[in-house]
Amino acid sequence: MIKINLTSLEAKNKYELTLDLEHIAELIMSGYTSGISPNWKLEGEEDEFSRDELIQAQKDYCDEHEVPMFVPSNGKCFYCLQDCVTPKWAVEHITGCPKCHHTFCD
Ligand SMILES: [Zn+2]
Repeated sequence: MIKINLTSLEAKNKYELTLDLEHIAELIMSGYTSGISPNWKLEGEEDEFSRDELIQAQKDYCDEHEVPMFVPSNGKCFYCLQDCVTPKWAVEHITGCPKCHHTFCD
């Protein structure tokens, strides 16, 4: 807890006040932010498809829309070798790597 005694603050000089403020800032930075983690995912919002299912979904998408499948069939980018499977694979024609932005159309 941060407790500030106003009467003692008034008696202090600027230098001492600065030290107090620094102490408060430290408390805020260490105490008030620790233990807080962002929770971007809403409850019940799970990834709908496994990685393999997403790769299959992209194949199906291409068959359905009669477009060539450009993505690597193992889901690993030809160029940066990173996993480039994303949930988008289920819903649109993928023509490039989301990681290195290299096009697969070449
Ligand atoms: Zn890549």
